[in-house]
Amino acid sequence: MHGDAPHVAIVGGGPVGLATAIELGLRGISCVVLEQGDGQVGNAKFVDINMRTMEFCRRWGIADEVRDRGFNPDYAQDLIYVTTLTGYLLGRQPFPAFSQFRTPPTTPERIARCPQTIFDPILRRTAEALPAVRLRYQTRCERVSQDGDGVTLTLVDTATGKREELRAGYVACCEGANSSIRETLGIGLDGAGTLSLNANVVFFSEEFLRVHDKGPGFYTAIGPEGRWASVLAIDGGTLWRLQLTKPFETTVFPKADAEAWVRRFMGRDFAFEVRSAIVWSRREVVAASYRSGRVFLLGDAAHQLSPTGGFGLNTGIGDVTNLAWKLAAVIDGWGGPELLPSYEAERKPIGTQNVAAATGRWQHNEAVGGTPGPAILESGAEGDRVRADVSAALQRILDRANCGYDYGPRYEDAGMQLGYSYENSPVIVPDGTPPPLNDHRTYYPIARPGIRAPHFWLDERTSILDLFGTGFVLLRLSRHAPAADVFVAAAAKRGVPLTVHSFDIPQLFHIYNRQLVLVRPDGHVAWRSDELPTDAQHVLDVVRGSAA
Ligand SMILES: Cc1cc2nc3c(=O)[nH]c(=O)nc-3n(C[C@H](O)[C@H](O)[C@H](O)COP(=O)(O)OP(=O)(O)OC[C@H]3O[C@@H](n4cnc5c(N)ncnc54)[C@H](O)[C@@H]3O)c2cc1C
Repeated sequence: MHGDAPHVAIVGGGPVGLATAIELGLRGISCVVLEQGDGQVGNAKFVDINMRTMEFCRRWGIADEVRDRGFNPDYAQDLIYVTTLTGYLLGRQPFPAFSQFRTPPTTPERIARCPQTIFDPILRRTAEALPAVRLRYQTRCERVSQDGDGVTLTLVDTATGKREELRAGYVACCEGANSSIRETLGIGLDGAGTLSLNANVVFFSEEFLRVHDKGPGFYTAIGPEGRWASVLAIDGGTLWRLQLTKPFETTVFPKADAEAWVRRFMGRDFAFEVRSAIVWSRREVVAASYRSGRVFLLGDAAHQLSPTGGFGLNTGIGDVTNLAWKLAAVIDGWGGPELLPSYEAERKPIGTQNVAAATGRWQHNEAVGGTPGPAILESGAEGDRVRADVSAALQRILDRANCGYDYGPRYEDAGMQLGYSYENSPVIVPDGTPPPLNDHRTYYPIARPGIRAPHFWLDERTSILDLFGTGFVLLRLSRHAPAADVFVAAAAKRGVPLTVHSFDIPQLFHIYNRQLVLVRPDGHVAWRSDELPTDAQHVLDVVRGSAA
């Protein structure tokens, strides 16, 4: 690009747009974030940051802050089922507070609770500190048009109404669910569409924990109609989020109604103040295409999931880390013509898979507790019998929730968080081994091409993941591993950044299970073998998207 024109214009300064700026900025790729709002985050839509996203936060140097600043670490995470908070206890699965969570052996970073109101500002500060990144708030993108050399964006200053045009090499469309760019590009949404309307009420209360006797945790209420609401601690102190899980019929949500729902959950009146009350659409959709020419869709612009499971943001961050190095490679001149198309080939199947899993989790949750009828609230023998039935059914579910991981809730989908694989990718060299018997729950640490290279502690503080992120990394994993010279020469010939690391650690070799493993900048395995390939140049050409 010429003059002041950035290489990449990022439309949308939500978490996905900001993360894109960080990934590009760390690679020295000039980019501008265009955000129509003023940068204030009013509503914490998401709260949970999963293990894989935390691993990327570690790469960006913010993992400690995200983990330690987000949430009261001593707030216990028990799953608690009640008729109301001051009513009957129906079930309880004790879980420790985040400070007691242990980090599973498969990752250097355990999950964190960091509400969007804290997470987005951390991303913003990180992006702002990078010389290659510019952030522009109160700037709405109204239109994009592209030609062979780049994209022209029509921008409007939302404060003054002033219009201008901006030229960029590529556009990362991170506009969220209601993406207008996606619509103007004529990219439709596949999937079941809107599943339900639901409501969230964020409220402030200093006395919440003192009013009831159930102790700290994540609360779910089951009434005569079944499971109807949950309350989650946003900061583990005074901010709470009531989610009405029964579908809403209307988008109108008066404050008085919101207050009445909060009181119903508690089972009596208490001192609280509603901070926000919104109705939101639970959707199950994936964009028909993730790309049109020089414009790429990421995050909610590309896929919208039921929030059950907390996969939404985390799927978006996966998009970011997949696309950013490919854009950088093409801009820097070593990425081949197949590299940018591989973004959709790799990420759309993951989006589709996660969207379906989130809906499955929702349907499962909806069925929890059945429809017990009014007796669930009554004292006496019939009430006791109904509550005992509900409790027994709940216990079967709660026993599953731990899934053998003694680390805390939300590890039950470790397979989804860490084990996703870019099967049939045009820029991965398969090694002929079958995919692991992955399900959503179980993660197998293997270094099969397409999968995230497994974590291993090299010393007390250094994970092998810390070696990945900039260019390609060739791991030589035993003293018998072939020399890497042919790869080094092939990489130098094409200008591909490649670093070689040699280890002789039996446990590491046991996990990676090959003498040579080539890892991409996003931490996924691109190729592996016990021997040098007959044509190392060809391997490098495939993985940089230039084999055709
Ligand atoms: C109730 C609820 C709970 C959730 N819980 C979780 C959770 O625990 N974990 C999780 O991973 N996910 C969760 N999610 C999903 C998560 O909130 C979203 O996936 C995430 O916010 C998507 O980020 P994004 O940056 O793609 O989009 P957004 O957050 O929607 O950001 C898009 C940004 O683009 C801006 N914008 C839009 N159009 C333009 C334009 N034309 N020009 C300039 N700017 C524009 C908007 O102002 C906005 O700031 C939850 C969602 C909901 C609704």
